[in-house]
This record gives sequence, structure tokens and C-alpha cells, in this order.
Amino acid sequence: MVPMVYLDHSATTPLDPEVLQAMMPYLTEEFGNASSVYGLGQRARQAIDQARDEVAAFYGVEAREVIFTSGGTEGDNFALRGIAYRNADRGRHLITSTIEHDAVLRSVESLERDGFEVTRLPVDRYGLVDPDALRHALRPDTTLVSIMHANNEIGTIEPISDLVAVTREHSDAYFHTDAVQSTGKIATRVDELGVDLLSMSAHKLHGPKGVGCLVVRSGVRLEPFMLGGGHERNRRAGTENVAGIAGLAKAVSIAQRDMAQNIAQLTALRDRLLEGVLDRIPAAEITGHPAKRLPHHASFLFQGVEGESLLLQLDMEGIAASSGSACTSGSLEPSHVILALGYPRERALGSLRLSVGKDNTQADVDLVLRRLPDMVARLRAMAPISAA
Ligand code: PLP
Repeated sequence: MVPMVYLDHSATTPLDPEVLQAMMPYLTEEFGNASSVYGLGQRARQAIDQARDEVAAFYGVEAREVIFTSGGTEGDNFALRGIAYRNADRGRHLITSTIEHDAVLRSVESLERDGFEVTRLPVDRYGLVDPDALRHALRPDTTLVSIMHANNEIGTIEPISDLVAVTREHSDAYFHTDAVQSTGKIATRVDELGVDLLSMSAHKLHGPKGVGCLVVRSGVRLEPFMLGGGHERNRRAGTENVAGIAGLAKAVSIAQRDMAQNIAQLTALRDRLLEGVLDRIPAAEITGHPAKRLPHHASFLFQGVEGESLLLQLDMEGIAASSGSACTSGSLEPSHVILALGYPRERALGSLRLSVGKDNTQADVDLVLRRLPDMVARLRAMAPISAA
């Protein structure tokens, strides 16, 4: 087998061995249900309490403001639907952006079918939301603004504090941010960003899959949608994923401990990729903001190339990457994010995302820089897409 060079850390990350170690007791002998009164159950409860304290400290909030979920998709659904329904007596208008993750976009579509009105703010060519556009979109009946902290496909970091300031100045709407991509990569303290709700997912920062949290500031009116027992202070029913929660807390504390070092290391690898690709491949373009972008994230458009074909070529060389375009029902669909930047459909199909992680080396990046130019040239030579 070809040795694998994993450059898709925005999709998911390998589990950190320290995280696995923190989870192991709760996958084995400490298997108790945290709702049980005997010692085994109470030790599980203590593990959850400790994890909640650590996650709360990481985000700069109170422990009671952290609700554990099954990950980013649930957190986004919970925030959007939970705020919309619980506050429908105050208004039925929501604001989001055109480049959100599907977990947000599908949630607002479902709310629209239920009679809510949604404004989708456009972005500029770098993927930035304009605070002035938000100012104009806010209405007396707006109950929620949901703008992601950093975009998964183009890495652009949104000006969340400015957007929150505009929201506070002009309305009583709550502000939610999807911080699935930014958590562990850049500063995400909720008290500094100023948001009311924040969703995250452990598997993007070397934690386990299927666990995350929604931070909800005190006083925010939120309708629960997982109904059942009284877990998570009656806000999210379901027996707690004790091992996952312990793993999530470990993952955020490692991310916090190593953040400065990771930022320096990842930025150097990312910049080597960005510059190397532009130098070696004609008519290549970077997508997303050149400076306001996640430290580990490099994304491109190659004229006259289908991103999907490029992924297959990279895979044959043992390189794992991703493209925003997806093959749905037999035809290639460009990503809604790249289209929102203003590119025509044909150009948008040629997108590639390379996202580095803490285990990547300069040799990994150099391998891509050696292989990619020939692949792009080959695909262009046989491309059904016009290079014009
Ligand atoms: N939001 C963003 C920005 C994401 O990138 C993802 C995952 O790719 C999600 C939400 C969904 O998170 P999860 O995989 O935990 O459901």
C-alpha cells in the first residue's frame, strides 16, 4: 500500500492517543450510567462534571452553559430550531449567510417550510460577511443571527465580534456561531466573541466522532428538541456519552495547551502549500481570504479541472484531500460556497482543499507540490471542462 499522506483535517482528524487514554476507563470498567445512584454511576457523573468544567473554562463560560450533543450537526440544528421555535412569539425572522454548512442551511430551509422568513447574507469574493449588510437585514422581528466562525471549504474567518456588535446595536436577536472548524485552531472564547450560542464538534480537533457541545449563555430562551429524560438540565435528553464527553474535554485541553505551537507549525505548512501551488501551477487561484483564514487550511481553484478527478489522482498517490464539489445523482455539483464567492459553475467545479494537521511534515507538503502540477496538467489535457 502507498504510504498515506493525510491532508484532510477539515473533514476529520485522527484521535489523539492522550484522548483515547482519557476515554478508555469509560469504555471498559467505568461503564456506569451517570444517572445511577450507586458508586459506578456517580463516578461517571463526576467524569461528566469535570469535563463540563474543562470545556466551560476553555470557552470562558459557566459550566451550566455547556450542553453536550452528538456533534456539530446536532448543535447547529438545536441552535437554529431551538431559538426559532422558542422565540416565535417575538418574531419569525432569521438571518444567516450563503456559505454556512448544510447543518445550518437545511435547518433554515425546514424553518422556512414552517412559515419562518430567512435572510441569507451574501459574501464578498473572499467569503466575508459584511457587517453593514447585516445591519440592513436586521428587523424588529429578527430572533436569531447565525454566522459561522470559520468556513470549512475556504477557511475564511468571519468578523464575528463586529457582527455581534452590529446585532446588539440594532436588535434583540440572539447570535449563534458554528465554531466546528475554528475550535482548537484559533481563539474561540465565547466571552470574547460575544455570541449567545456556539456549536462545536470533537472530531475536528483530534477528539472522538459523535460528540460535541452547544454553548448557550444563561438567559437564552431555547426549545429542547431531544425529548425524554431530564439529562443536561432538561435541555437535551439521552443517556450521556461518558467516554465521548471525557474525550472531548481532553481534546480541548490539549488544543488549548498546544495552540500557539500548533498555529506556528500549521501556518508554516499551509503557507508552503499556498505559495508552492501558485508558483508551480499556472492559472491556479487561492479561494478564501489570503490572511483571515484558518492556520491549517489551503484551498484552490484550478481552471479546466474537475476537483473530483483530482481527488482520485491524489488518492492513487496515497494523498487524502477533498473538494467542495460532490457527485450527486450522477452529475457533478459545484459547492454552494464557491458559487457564493461569485465563480461561474465550470470554474467552481475545480476546487481542492488541503488541510494540514499537527502530524504532517514538510515532506508531506513537498510530496504534494511534486505530484500536483503533473496531475493538473494531465487532467487539463483531457478535461471536458474548457480551460478558457
Ligand atoms: N459545521 C461545519 C462548519 C462543519 O465543517 C461540520 C463538519 O464537517 C459540521 C458543522 C458538522 O459537524 P459533525 O460532523 O460533528 O456533525
